[in-house]
Amino acid sequence: MTSKRAWAALMALTCWLAAFVTMAEPVWNFPLAANVVEGKGGYLVLTNRETLLDSSYVPQNLTALSLRSVGRDHELRREAADALTQMFVAAEADGHKLYVKSAYRSWQTQSSMYHNRVERYNKDDGVVAYPGSSDHQTGLGVDILNYEWTKREGMTPAFGETAEAQWMEQHCARFGFILRYMPEKQEITGIIYEPWHFRYVGQEVAQYIMENRLSLEEFDQSVKAAIAAYEAQGGDYAALCRQLNAPPEPKMLGESDEEGDGEVSLFYPSNP
Ligand SMILES: [Zn+2]
Repeated sequence: MTSKRAWAALMALTCWLAAFVTMAEPVWNFPLAANVVEGKGGYLVLTNRETLLDSSYVPQNLTALSLRSVGRDHELRREAADALTQMFVAAEADGHKLYVKSAYRSWQTQSSMYHNRVERYNKDDGVVAYPGSSDHQTGLGVDILNYEWTKREGMTPAFGETAEAQWMEQHCARFGFILRYMPEKQEITGIIYEPWHFRYVGQEVAQYIMENRLSLEEFDQSVKAAIAAYEAQGGDYAALCRQLNAPPEPKMLGESDEEGDGEVSLFYPSNP
């Protein structure tokens, strides 16, 4: 092959490759569907010391819990409340009585708890979350104890050794909850291991997070990376979600061929 012909062949190949690359559909490369991790409904809202919720943030659909609890007037977002009710029923069927210790907390409540703690110990000792950083402000986070621990002064990681804590960690994902502050993620979450604190994120995401032992921070990062990768290929993430969320196209009745001409079926019986 002359060098001229080789050059022409190379150019042709380059053009073909370029055309192929431009034509390639962007690929959504994440184990969960694009619209599942979209965070529609606000169930994936992340709050921590770096990502604060506004003092005016009040979750929608707060509803009173009617479950065994310490104290009264506990509220969660309705979907989380329903899921928690199912979790309590399932736990009891397995011989475990659970108690709600704390659920939704407003920014104002969190703020006074925080400032009381700081005043009492003269420093932020990390026990009470900074206002706006608490998972409880989302209306999706809940502290759950067993009977014995409801009688104690405070909560410590030792609660994780109880049968109830172990049952919750093992079964929470079935009901859409995750163990929000895992022992091996303290560096990332900035919060100690809290075997009593569960956070509603919806069933599919909860199953993925618990199976892969992720913090919500890591999950949030990996979703953001997947969206960035999709858009780097020229994809439109919002459009992809709209397409996945759209109801299926209605099917016309009486159509029997590609043209939609019902009469054709007379000539092409469906069971030849
Ligand atoms: Zn908590």
